[in-house]
Amino acid sequence: MRAVIVGGVAGGMSSATRLRRLDAGAEIIVLERSGHVSYANCGLPYLVGGIIEDEEDLLLQTPESLHERFRLDVRVGSEVTAVRSSECVVDVTELESGSAYELSYDALILSPGASPVIPAIPGIERAFPLRTVEDVERITVVVESHPRSAVIIGGGFIGIEIAENLRHRGIATTIVEAASQVLAPLDPEMAQLVSEELICHGVEVILGTSVAAITDHDVELPDGRRVPGDVVVVAIGVRPDVHLARSAGLAIGPRGGIAVDGYNRTSDPSIYAIGDAAEKIDALDGSATLVPLANIANRQGRVVADHIAGRETRVIPTIGTSIVKVFDLVVATTGWNEKRLRGAGRPMAMVHAHPGSHAGYYPGAERMALKLIFDPGTGEILGAQGVGGEGVDKRIDVLATAIRGGITAPELADLELAYAPPFGSAKDPVNMLGYMAENVLSGLCEPVQWNEVTAHQLRGYEVIDVRTRDEFDRGHIPGARSLPLDEIRERIAEIPSDHLIATCQVGIRGHTATLLLGELGFKVKNLDGGYQTWVHSPGAQAIDYGVLAPSEEG
Ligand SMILES: Cc1cc2nc3c(=O)[nH]c(=O)nc-3n(C[C@H](O)[C@H](O)[C@H](O)COP(=O)(O)OP(=O)(O)OC[C@H]3O[C@@H](n4cnc5c(N)ncnc54)[C@H](O)[C@@H]3O)c2cc1C
Repeated sequence: MRAVIVGGVAGGMSSATRLRRLDAGAEIIVLERSGHVSYANCGLPYLVGGIIEDEEDLLLQTPESLHERFRLDVRVGSEVTAVRSSECVVDVTELESGSAYELSYDALILSPGASPVIPAIPGIERAFPLRTVEDVERITVVVESHPRSAVIIGGGFIGIEIAENLRHRGIATTIVEAASQVLAPLDPEMAQLVSEELICHGVEVILGTSVAAITDHDVELPDGRRVPGDVVVVAIGVRPDVHLARSAGLAIGPRGGIAVDGYNRTSDPSIYAIGDAAEKIDALDGSATLVPLANIANRQGRVVADHIAGRETRVIPTIGTSIVKVFDLVVATTGWNEKRLRGAGRPMAMVHAHPGSHAGYYPGAERMALKLIFDPGTGEILGAQGVGGEGVDKRIDVLATAIRGGITAPELADLELAYAPPFGSAKDPVNMLGYMAENVLSGLCEPVQWNEVTAHQLRGYEVIDVRTRDEFDRGHIPGARSLPLDEIRERIAEIPSDHLIATCQVGIRGHTATLLLGELGFKVKNLDGGYQTWVHSPGAQAIDYGVLAPSEEG
């Protein structure tokens, strides 16, 4: 049996090594266009910044080491130029010598990845994409010539990672993003925290603007503004590389990736497609989706090898869990965001929380912002987002696991998670989300979201801020009235309306006030996530989002 694999990085190499483990006798040939196989492309931005100092650290294997351990026939600098599926043959060109040959296969695995989207703007040839080791080598040459300024076109994961790394090199860096926020998988009130972090570390963030042209040392915006950019990096996204699939006459799916079934078989039963090039099945609605992430590529590589070796495999729908470091922030998401759910017309409820990463009395606790979105009828978890410092990764991973395991939002309250003061709280942030979801789903309290406050005020709702007077004086929602929680019973007569929104710093005291005022006969809604969510929402004035202060408990 001969298996030919196109692409020798995440998906391709994962399928090659798994297949070898399952079939000692198979002939396995890996064809890789670039000069490297099995390299950690996720680490490439950190090579630009010098945080990872040696390129060799990212090169996990070589053709020689892969042959030695796995008896793989790995051919770098070898581009597959066509797939002749009717003959089960691929055409290969050796890039250095230019010589070409054909190779037959019994099973063909396509893992060619995705190509950076390059916008058609004047001067774009001066912009660097960031996809391969060779791309980084080119950027590094320029960066080491001590440029003063850089422009990153695109505020997605890779754009932000490269911005941080260029700042690390001391280069004045600007991100130009066409959307109204950075990091599209986040909702705006969460993305705002990321923009603030970038700005705080000296990155200029220009939102809602595309780039009109790239000149010798600048980038020109449509309104005529010029942004200095000795270095320009383009990172506006990727699209699946499907040209081989097209040459083979394989079906292309609705999202523009290679169409595959649950076992990653293409429309030709002897050809599989995995990784960034292939469409995935969305776990939430079963639709075709594109999720260009390393975990999925690796997982699919293994599944395909199992399928070829005749082993039982599982269909793996994707929920799209991702994480990125933004200077001192950790930003992670799983599942769908509010924007996407709204666009799909899917009913949803949500809660925002700002818990500490661990017990507030143990030094170093950092506050995080968490958002949980769930079905208002069944409690099914639809998505979650986290922005903060320590511990955001573990909470989003638990929530991703909960989605996969079918645990509902209120059932998060039941999870027994590891706790000691340096690591968490007896009520872990994930448990807290469960308690809050339970309160909403059971009808115990009705939340108001940050973007619904003004509309409520116009309908006659009075905002009652139940924090201390000091906290109120440091910043509050326009029109809010200060009535500290502990004074509510004595000052009840001062409340001018029977329709109220209770708000506090993060929603906990507001919740207590909501229930108390409800008992006293008022119609009260609690501002979800409190002032902390509202103040970081787009349009609200930003305040410090730092280390958890002992006085700011709720
Ligand atoms: C800078 C960067 C940072 C990233 N960071 C993260 C991260 O932090 N977390 C995360 O989950 N994901 C990250 N990703 C995405 C992740 O790397 C990809 O999802 C994953 O590598 C996809 O695996 P793949 O096998 O589909 O494609 P790739 O790993 O891209 O491999 C495809 C290979 O196929 C080769 N190839 C293409 N066409 C041909 C051909 N015709 N003939 C021969 N060879 C061919 C290419 O040269 C390439 O080496 C990052 C990607 C980049 C570029």
